[in-house]
Amino acid sequence: VLGGMQDFELRVPRLLDHAAREHAQREIVSRWADGSETRSNWAGIANDSKKLAQALERMGIAPGDRVATLAMNHHRHLIAWYGTIGMGGVVHTINPRLFDEQLVYIANHAEDRVLIYDRAFQPIVDRLKPHWTSIDHYICFDDGAFEALLDAEDGDYAWVEGGEREPCMLCYTSGTTGHPKGVLYTHRSTLLHAMHAASPAVMTLGASTTILPIVPLFHAAAWGLCFAGPLAGCKMVFSQVNDAAVLCGLMNRERVTLASGVPTVWLALFQHIDATGERPETVEQITVGGSAAPRAMIARFLDMGIKVTHLWGMTETSPVATAASPPPGWESMSRDEQLDMLQRQGSIPFGIELRVIDDEDREQPRDGVSSGRLQVRGPWIVQRYFGAAEDAVDADNWFDTGDVAVLHPDGTMQITDRAKDVIKSGGEWISSVDLENAAIGCPGVAEAAAIGIYHPKWDERPLLLVVRKTDHAVTPPEIIAHLGQHVAKWWLPDDILFVDSLPHTATGKLLKTELRRLYKDYKAG
Ligand code: ADP
Repeated sequence: VLGGMQDFELRVPRLLDHAAREHAQREIVSRWADGSETRSNWAGIANDSKKLAQALERMGIAPGDRVATLAMNHHRHLIAWYGTIGMGGVVHTINPRLFDEQLVYIANHAEDRVLIYDRAFQPIVDRLKPHWTSIDHYICFDDGAFEALLDAEDGDYAWVEGGEREPCMLCYTSGTTGHPKGVLYTHRSTLLHAMHAASPAVMTLGASTTILPIVPLFHAAAWGLCFAGPLAGCKMVFSQVNDAAVLCGLMNRERVTLASGVPTVWLALFQHIDATGERPETVEQITVGGSAAPRAMIARFLDMGIKVTHLWGMTETSPVATAASPPPGWESMSRDEQLDMLQRQGSIPFGIELRVIDDEDREQPRDGVSSGRLQVRGPWIVQRYFGAAEDAVDADNWFDTGDVAVLHPDGTMQITDRAKDVIKSGGEWISSVDLENAAIGCPGVAEAAAIGIYHPKWDERPLLLVVRKTDHAVTPPEIIAHLGQHVAKWWLPDDILFVDSLPHTATGKLLKTELRRLYKDYKAG
């Protein structure tokens, strides 16, 4: 038996229609690399997106075809998303920081037909054009070509209709091992994720929110902000460059209330504040994710009177899954208790189910100590990678995140490591992340990486690689003494090595596979 309610397919263009109708004048601001600015609003973005949809159809692009972007954050990039999705296409955001080999692989694997790119990435395009096998149309965002395309159309266009389970967006994981894998979001998963991201369980977005997504549009769908923003009628501010001075100026000029980015972005902002005294005056909330938010960072924002929302997720989870924000009783907690809560990866919102399992696939109790592999399922979690022959989930739809976590009795989740980065010593697990975080708290340490090295008796023992702050001569005994205050004695590294720099992935995370390869035969002594 069917119910008596309307069949209202959850299609992404409805988000833009809503914003254009109910929040038409809310501004969309782009700050370009050359310092100039362009101002539009939701009505303008909707109109331009329709024009792009018309232009793509005129080029012979059909529903289901992939249109790729290779670009930083600006409103034209947003138009490329909605124009493509609106004509039934699939927008494929490519991360320009990937290695050539990966850039060639994913565009060919996705069978992209169009590439729209920033002029700054012209060298990548020139270099890789001969290797890209499916791209027929190259359009530059900022040399006049994109605008000319729009100017040739009238915007009199009705979005392509269809089922909510059709695809709308393709994002590849950066892949620290093997080939990158594509996650193909549906209209339905994207729209449900937008409602979740905007809700008080995650970011509490409203028509008075002004968002600055510092997270790039090419990384994990910019955490869903470009879908949740129009849903809530937010003003949106984009910057083509990620320089802290530019971002801070932009936040103050445009009265940004919410800014989102990975921890590195905030470290750069703190340096800017320390060097110039200029600070964000209007920001009420910072969302931080992509890797664990360091305690000192959370503390500094709280001291500035800024709310911190700590997000956890991955490309496979659209990407926002859990969010840590002030729990009940917040006001009566000590600052230390507050930091303990926000350092966790958060509460489990509706739509997300989590469990932790051990090496024998036994579900672990939510006792705050039993750690194991974190699994997730829900309506915006991957089922099968793009082009794969098999599902990425088990028979009950559990997706193995590759993260190691504990669940606390109060329902909060805490990531303790990546499964492949855990150091297994004498049958027990040492968290490389905990060691690194403790090391970073030691004066003189700029960055640290902990990896397991072979040990005949214990199987693995920790080796700590440290980048020293310039003009600092911190010594191994000083670091060990500092670590001793934060971790168990048997966790202390067998050796500490100073290095000039550490390798990172295209998304700025420590490249542990490379470190493990480099130090494979290292013997602590
Ligand atoms: P990649 O392509 O590098 O996998 P993702 O953004 O999809 O890029 O990375 C997801 C991973 O990032 C998660 O599985 C987790 O290990 C890590 N991560 C994300 N957010 C957090 C967080 N708040 N705390 C700790 N780790 C996080």
